[in-house]
Amino acid sequence: PTLTNTVLYLDGVSVTFDGFRAINKLSLAIAPGEMRAIIGPNGAGKTTMMDIITGKTRPDEGEVFFGGMIDLTMLDEAEIAALGIGRKFQKPTVFESHTVADNIRLALAGARSPFSALFGARNRIAEERIDTILSTVRLTEHRGRLAADLSHGQKQWLEIGMLLAQDPKLLLVDEPVAGMTDAETAETAHLLKEIAREHSVVVVEHDMAFVRDLGCKVTVLHEGSVLAEGSIDAVSANERVIEVYLGR
Ligand code: ADP
Repeated sequence: PTLTNTVLYLDGVSVTFDGFRAINKLSLAIAPGEMRAIIGPNGAGKTTMMDIITGKTRPDEGEVFFGGMIDLTMLDEAEIAALGIGRKFQKPTVFESHTVADNIRLALAGARSPFSALFGARNRIAEERIDTILSTVRLTEHRGRLAADLSHGQKQWLEIGMLLAQDPKLLLVDEPVAGMTDAETAETAHLLKEIAREHSVVVVEHDMAFVRDLGCKVTVLHEGSVLAEGSIDAVSANERVIEVYLGR
């Protein structure tokens, strides 16, 4: 890969916690518009990798380029978010006492104070954006319900919708289907594939059936580096990957 054809490019990144190398010369290239699944056993470094991209953790060495030219390791978390990198953490954090539509409205307004955003952002353009986002995240019929009354899976979708409202160039999604029903899991694969038509998406996930449904390139992390990369079929058949997963 070259810098110009990547939305995200990690080059020789390492992080050490108290003498332990959680990330070890990790290199990874994500093309613009690509969806990529990141898998790997517990402790492989998946969360730390996401923390490095978002500026929560600073690497000891290596570079992280966004959009082919901006070195993220020079920036703080707020600056990185402002560039258009949105992260969805594993647990949904929505405004429980607001309606589904108002949650999206708040996110569109970049809400610091829920009240100012709710009074300020009611206009036709915002309403059309809200409709589009709610349709993408399968919540059109639930727009008037309180977020607190949604199922766990629907809350995850609502939070993905809130991320979309911020119009990110790159979405980082952390174990989106943990705790979801099978039907919600299958629907989440469809939903993310739709989102990936217009955004670059990196998904960290344990659920292999779900990763297969995503149908995208897979990167297997192990001990802080890339162990294998390719289609889910190719990496599942890779002997080193099998050894790592079976713990031999
Ligand atoms: P994964 O998300 O793939 O399960 P993590 O990125 O959470 O892996 O962790 C990678 C390794 O780094 C683990 O061995 C973990 O114990 C260690 N680690 C992560 N964060 C810290 C930290 N803040 N301090 C010390 N060790 C850490």
